[in-house]
Amino acid sequence: MPTTHTGGCLCSAIRYTIDAPITGLRACHCVNCQKHTGAGGSVNAVVPSDKFRITRGTTRKYDDAATQSGRTLSRHFCEKCGSPIYSHRNPNPGFVVVRAGTLDDKAGLRITGNIWTSTAAAWSHIDPSTECHPENMPAPAPKP
Ligand SMILES: [Zn+2]
Ligand SMILES: [Zn+2]
Repeated sequence: MPTTHTGGCLCSAIRYTIDAPITGLRACHCVNCQKHTGAGGSVNAVVPSDKFRITRGTTRKYDDAATQSGRTLSRHFCEKCGSPIYSHRNPNPGFVVVRAGTLDDKAGLRITGNIWTSTAAAWSHIDPSTECHPENMPAPAPKP
């Protein structure tokens, strides 16, 4: 499994590097992702913020405040071609959510989890053998 991944937008103005392995992808079927992508939602690699680096260009961001959680989600995209690149919560919890379609090499990557299945488009195929949640990822169990 490669430990470094590269990717970028459609016009190549934005390029990035991820210095971490990607073990699985998470699909988000929320209505905000549907609007932002113009598709059934987003498919993402969740990676530590300090392993994600923009190596060319500067993204623009849309601060999406109309989230179900009430937290503002910064959605970064290429201002030239409009490709969505990544997003993160505010304050940044230590990870960024990278749009997997912008990766250069997608070999072997599979969707291992689905969130917001309650608002999934009728056309979306969701593999029931993956981890599925009707809404957001449940909060991790409190530490003892
Ligand atoms: Zn671009
Ligand atoms: Zn979403």
